[in-house]
Amino acid sequence: MGYVLRVSCKCRENDVRIGGGFLDSEDRTLNSVRHGYFGSEAQKLVQNDESVTIDCDPVPYICEKCGNVVARKPYDLYRPKNGKEVSLEDEDDPVLIWKCAHKCPECHSLMMKLESDEDLPEMKCPRCGENYKTEITCFID
Ligand SMILES: [Zn+2]
Ligand SMILES: [Zn+2]
Repeated sequence: MGYVLRVSCKCRENDVRIGGGFLDSEDRTLNSVRHGYFGSEAQKLVQNDESVTIDCDPVPYICEKCGNVVARKPYDLYRPKNGKEVSLEDEDDPVLIWKCAHKCPECHSLMMKLESDEDLPEMKCPRCGENYKTEITCFID
């Protein structure tokens, strides 16, 4: 279950799709990492450690240069602190070992990851200086 969030400020309006209905599984994405699709650094981390997992849950990313907001699967790699299984729900357990860089589709600057779309109303658009307004426009499977 996911939803489309309309994120607006004085200078722009974006529809951002959060969660829901994605076809590629964690395992398949990890396989792409293993084959070097995300670069050699990430490839080595995954090849050397079976316990590494990848975060595929879309979250908002914000461009600090132009104020663009998009949803991206983070594709960050995590390793469990103890034991073999990682639970991404347990905030203290997985240790971030590799961060995937996401570039703004409009201005190609690096984008900043937000943990939740609930952070957006507290953030100001760098271009017009206004706080973002958010509104769920529809729910998706
Ligand atoms: Zn703005
Ligand atoms: Zn940008």
